[in-house]
Amino acid sequence: MRIERFPDVDLNALPPDPTPPDFWQDRAACFGVDPDVFFPISEEEAGPALMFCGVCQIREECLAWALKNGERYGVWGGLTEQRRRRVARRVA
Ligand code: SF4
Repeated sequence: MRIERFPDVDLNALPPDPTPPDFWQDRAACFGVDPDVFFPISEEEAGPALMFCGVCQIREECLAWALKNGERYGVWGGLTEQRRRRVARRVA
């Protein structure tokens, strides 16, 4: 099963100079949630993490930070590792 829970990312809407998580993690939907949720063993198990991201008010900041810093692991900004790699190729 492919996880395509969110529409394609609007790369133009991402902040060009995102701040580190220390600046926004207390406003994140995942604040206080077990970090293991965001590091699923497989793409198929990313559903719970994606649910949090789907209601997160700082999703764009989170995704922009992950892309800027080449975060390889885990779910960031509503994108799994696989999807983030695809997006990163588009912005490279
Ligand atoms: S977008 Fe997802 S991973 Fe990023 S802060 Fe929000 S809930 Fe956490």
